[in-house]
This record gives sequence, C-alpha cells and structure tokens, in this order.
Amino acid sequence: MTNLRFQVVEEAFKKKPLEVMVPLERPSEYFGKYVFNRAKMYKYLPADVYDKLIDVIDNGSRLDRSIADAVAAGMKQWAEENGVTHYTHWFQPLTEGTAEKHDAFIEHDGKGGMIEEFSGKLLVQQEPDASSFPNGGIRNTFEARGYSAWDPTSPVFIMDDTLCIPTIFISYTGEALDYKAPLLRALHAVNTAATEVCHYFDQRVKKVTCNLGWEQEYFLVDEGLYSARPDLMLTGRTLMGHDSAKNQQMDDHYFGTIPDRVQAFMKDLEVQALELSIPCKTRHNEVAPNQFEIAPIFEETNLAIDHNMLLMSLMKKVARKHGFRVLLHEKPFAGINGSGKHNNWSLSTDTGVLLHAPGKTPEDNLRFVTFIVETLMGVYRHNGLIKASIMSATNAHRLGANEAPPAIISSFLGKQLSELLDHIENSNSKDLFNVAGKQGMTLDIPEIPELLIDNTDRNRTSPFAFTGNRFEFRAVGSEANCASAMIALNTAVAEALTDFKKRVDALIEKGQDQTSAIIDVLREDIKTCKPIRFDGNGYSDEWVEEAKRRGLDCETSCPLIFDNYLSKESIKMFEDMNVMSEKELAARNEVKWDTYTKRIQIEARVMGDLSMNHIIPVATHYQSQLAKNVQNMLQIFSKEKVEKLCSRNIKIIEEIAERTQIIENGVDELINARKVANKIESEREKAIAYHDTVAPKMEEIRYHIDKLELIVADELWTLPKYRELLFIR
Ligand code: ADP
Ligand code: MG
Repeated sequence: MTNLRFQVVEEAFKKKPLEVMVPLERPSEYFGKYVFNRAKMYKYLPADVYDKLIDVIDNGSRLDRSIADAVAAGMKQWAEENGVTHYTHWFQPLTEGTAEKHDAFIEHDGKGGMIEEFSGKLLVQQEPDASSFPNGGIRNTFEARGYSAWDPTSPVFIMDDTLCIPTIFISYTGEALDYKAPLLRALHAVNTAATEVCHYFDQRVKKVTCNLGWEQEYFLVDEGLYSARPDLMLTGRTLMGHDSAKNQQMDDHYFGTIPDRVQAFMKDLEVQALELSIPCKTRHNEVAPNQFEIAPIFEETNLAIDHNMLLMSLMKKVARKHGFRVLLHEKPFAGINGSGKHNNWSLSTDTGVLLHAPGKTPEDNLRFVTFIVETLMGVYRHNGLIKASIMSATNAHRLGANEAPPAIISSFLGKQLSELLDHIENSNSKDLFNVAGKQGMTLDIPEIPELLIDNTDRNRTSPFAFTGNRFEFRAVGSEANCASAMIALNTAVAEALTDFKKRVDALIEKGQDQTSAIIDVLREDIKTCKPIRFDGNGYSDEWVEEAKRRGLDCETSCPLIFDNYLSKESIKMFEDMNVMSEKELAARNEVKWDTYTKRIQIEARVMGDLSMNHIIPVATHYQSQLAKNVQNMLQIFSKEKVEKLCSRNIKIIEEIAERTQIIENGVDELINARKVANKIESEREKAIAYHDTVAPKMEEIRYHIDKLELIVADELWTLPKYRELLFIR
C-alpha cells in the first residue's frame, strides 16, 4: 500500500526556499507601482478633472458624472501602458471574500474589427449577474437585479492583466448586498457625529477620519501535506488529529528566527503588497508553530479594509508559488493558539489631532476623555451587537473556547486612564474647577504623559483594549472582513457621540457653561458605562460570573449571538445613524445563519467521509495484523501462554473494535441529526439545530479518532499528523 502521507512528507523535507527577485529600486520607489494613485491621476488626467476627482475623494463631494469619461480614459491609458487587457468591478459580497468578473477592453469598431474601449459608464456602474451571491432574500423579494458602483475613495489597481475597480454592491432598490456600502455609511456617521463634538474644542475641524491598522495572523502548511488532508482542503481546519508531543509549550516560536522558506514567502508577499500600496511594516513568527503575522501601517478604514481583502487574496496566491498553503481559519488546529486579526482603531481630525490620544493641556485632555468615554458608551450599550459583528462558525472556536479573547466584550483601560476616569467620577464640578481670578477657570484634569500610557502593561486577554492612542479590538477573526466589526463599532460610537452632544447642548441651553456641561455629562456616562471596564483576567471563570452580574452579553452560541442584530436597540441605532435599515439587517442575518449552517454541514460531511474512508479502514487493517499475530502465536504456544504474551495486542484489538464501533455509530447519529435539522424551514432555527445537535457530535467522534491515532501503527496512518503539519516548513 503506497501511503500518500509518507510521500508528501518526504517531498516537503526536500523543498528549498525559492529565490525571490526583489526589485532594484528602494521600497519607497516601487510603492504603489500598480495603483492609480494621486501621482498617476495628476499625470493621466486633465487638470480640471483631477481637481474635481480629488474634491470627491477628500471632501466627499458628489461625483460629477461628466468627468467619468475623462477619468476612465486616463485609467485606461495608464493600464494599457502596464500591459492590462481586462477590467473588473471588484466588490465584497457577504461571503467574506471578494468577487470579480473580468471583461476585456475590446469592443466592435463597426468596421468588422475591434477597438479597445473603456467608457465612464463602465467605470461608474455595472450590473454583475449576482443572483448567486448571498443576499438573504432581498433580491428575490424586491428586485431581481443588483449593481456595483465605483468607490472613488479607494484607488483602482492592477492585478496581473486586469484593472480592478473597488465598488460597492447594492440592489436596485438600494439595499446593501455587500460590506462596503454599509461601511461607508458608518464612516460617514462617525465623521458627522465626531466632527460636531470636536467643535466644542476647535471650530476649525471639518472632518474626522477613522483609522484602522489590522494585524493579520495566519498559518502556513506545506502544500503537499495540505493535499493529503481533505479536512484542511474542504473546511480550512483539521477536524481530527492528536496533539503533537511538542507544540507551543516551549514558547520558542514566538518572535523566533523566521524559517527560510517562510522568509522567502514573506519577502515575495511584501514586495507585491507594497507595489499595490499596502504599507506592510511588521512581520514575525507568532506563538503557535507555523503561525505568523503580517501588519501594515494604519490607514483610513475603507482603504485599510480593501487592502486587507487584497492582501488575503495575495497571500493565497504567493503561498502556492512557494509550495505552501496559507490557512486563514481562526482555529486550524486544536490545542494550540488560533488566529485573529487585531483591529487597531482610532479617530483623528483633519487638523491633525488624534482624538484617542492624550494631549498636553487640560483642555486637550477633556477632549481626549470625551472620546474615550463615548467610545466606551457605544461599546457598552451595544456589547452584544459588537460581539455579533465578529462572530462566525469559524471564529466561534476561538471566542470563549478558553483562549484569546473570551466571548464577552469588555474594555481594558490600564491603571492611569482608569484613575483619571475615577477622578472625574468622584469629584464634583467645584473640585474640577479652580476659579482663578481673571484667567477664568482652570481644569483639574491631571496630565497623562503619552509615554507612560503607552507603557502600561498590556492586558492580552482583553477583547477591546486601550493601547495608548487607540483601542485594539482583538476579537476580530483572522478570516473575517474587518468591515463587519468596523460597521458595528463606528455606528455605536457615532450614536454615543450624537447622544452626548444632544445632552450637552441641552445643558448649555439651560444656561450652563460649555465645559462644566461636558463634564457633567461625562460624569454621568462614566458611571453608566462602568460595567464594560474590566482590567482583570478575561479567561477566568470568575469573570464570566461577574460579567453576568454586570449585565454584559455572555451568550456563547453563535446563532443566538446573531439575534443581537435584530434587537430593538440595534435596529434603532442602525436606522438613526442611516447605516442600515431593518430590512437590510434582517436579510443579512438570514445570510449569517445560512452560512453558519453550511459551514457546519460541510464539516460534518467531511467528518463522516474521513471516518468511513480513512480512519475505520486503517484501524481495522491494523487490527487484522494484530489478530494474525495472535493467531500465529497460537500455533506455537498454548492458549494460556498466548493470553499472557499477547495481552497488549489483544487489548488493542478490543480497543480498536470498541472505538471504531463508537465512531460508526457517531457518524450515523451525525447523519440523522443533519437530516432532522435540514427539514427546518427557518434559517435561524436550522442554525440553532446545527449548533446544538450537529457540532457537538463531531467533537465526540473526534475524541475517539484521536485516541485511535495513538494506538494504530504510524506506518498505516494516512492523514499527515499534527507534528508534520506544524513543524515541516
Ligand atoms: P502591537 O504592539 O500591538 O503589535 P504595533 O505597533 O505593531 O502594535 O501596531 C499595530 C498596528 O496598530 C499597526 O498597524 C499600527 O500602524 C497601528 N496603529 C498605531 N497607532 C494607531 C492609531 N493611533 N490608530 C490606529 N492604528 C494605529
Ligand atoms: Mg497589537
């Protein structure tokens, strides 16, 4: 019997790092080579068209359709100079990935030949036949067609021979069918609300930008080994596999020397990423063996998210070139760390102020405290929703499964900031103001040196931690589109800021001066949102009990967590902030439940197949070998003696018989549980059934498979083992 496992292990060991051709120019010179950025707009567009386009990008002015043809012509010229023959609208449907349909530039010239053409009309809007994208019924019930529309704020770029145009994807009746459309609305909402609050402190502020710096974690697995693991190929994670004797317990992988083949992959990836304007800065080994991280410098959120989506596709492509497969799944291997995508988030003004960073004067710090407290208010009021925004069938393995971060949203502020908030909470307005003659009032808000705050010990267990000049939302899944988290967070903060302003204005109207009105409202909010603040160990059981007492959302079932999107408070928030309508929210939840069900369904099928086609046959084969040995011994020795001499073999024969039987019964039960669940009409109820009855069955089966792996002869085992998947590179 030839065993694919040994063949691929042998080949993997022989692989050498690929030679990577790094451009001769410096990174600053090839940065953005394949992006139609400002420099190229300036070069390829007429001056008046350039000015109008920049106005759209910088100030959110309406796109004047009359410039579309000129912009398209400039883009086409640049693209053709780079060997481009096709173009595509590039969008982000609710599948977590991106979608594209390439069209060639060619058109009939009317004289029997062809000409290359790309009009403004094609740039601005298209109707992809999108009936196969998840839409939660919107497209069936309302309007069959959907269209993609150009997002001028994210520059077009070239991939191979194709000009890619970032677009939103909406139905003809205007409902969002993607992540980008509601994201842009959420960013608009937070910009509007934050700008108004900024006016208390500085009238010159015209715009508030939301910043996002994501840190992408991932695993690399040798491509040959991957191909011998049907579970990895079809579900993105290992559904079985006993722990490797050595895994991450020595902490020798984190920040360790990057292995050569991986280093070559990273180098290649970074060059290509930089050419696409993705400002990659950091790379390192992560905690688990074969786990790594790549992080760019933060950017405006819409752009940062496009760049993350682009990087994830690029990673998959470049990995294959280097004989690897990249695993973006949140939990590809049991027993070791999973992968997340920390979202470093902050707001800043067009006047150059980072609103989540402490300032130099007491007035600056009042503004700082305002944005911290109102962020906490948004996160507190909508903690269940914010958890829902990062929940998925795959991220569920990470959240609450006793590893980073727990399935309860809370925020770590660190000692200094906590003390500052306590100070404001506990002192009355008189304490906070010292009336000092002609100078008027001075604020008794202690100064916080930036350096100190940045060095506060970092609580790794907190899902939403303050880290000096930003919050780090750590619960986001490695495979997710960050937009989901950014839509929920920014809308919640927009609502909190709007509400804050309303209450401050009401006090001012009654004759209170602005500063003391701000402080009074802040004091009230500091008290209200206190339950969200938690600096302790987020993994402890006591925290779960404590969080329940505080009224935080402690639900762990993924389908039930999705209910948060349809709560009264969430619908009101999304509608008030003009981000999503109830109809859109309901439709998107149908997609979420359906996606959840399908992922568990596929896993269950693969589990059944592998059990029946790999595990049971291999175990039975080994069992026969042992039985034959016992039989042979009987021809030489007496029955009593054989019982003694072969006691180990007999024990294993029995164990294999028992475990294979349990596995087979388990697979039958798994099939039956699916049959029952599949009959359920409601997507929500079906997902709940999959969560409650199908998923746990797989864990039971896995337990026995992993035990068999320990006793069956290594030479017979067909699936690459954890030690091979995790340590060969
Ligand atoms: P860590 O110690 O968490 O790895 P890094 O310094 O590597 O921190 O930064 C992680 C990410 O946070 C990077 O993308 C970085 O650009 C980004 N970042 C830094 N400051 C801010 C900020 N004020 N707002 C948003 N992102 C930020
Ligand atoms: Mg970080």
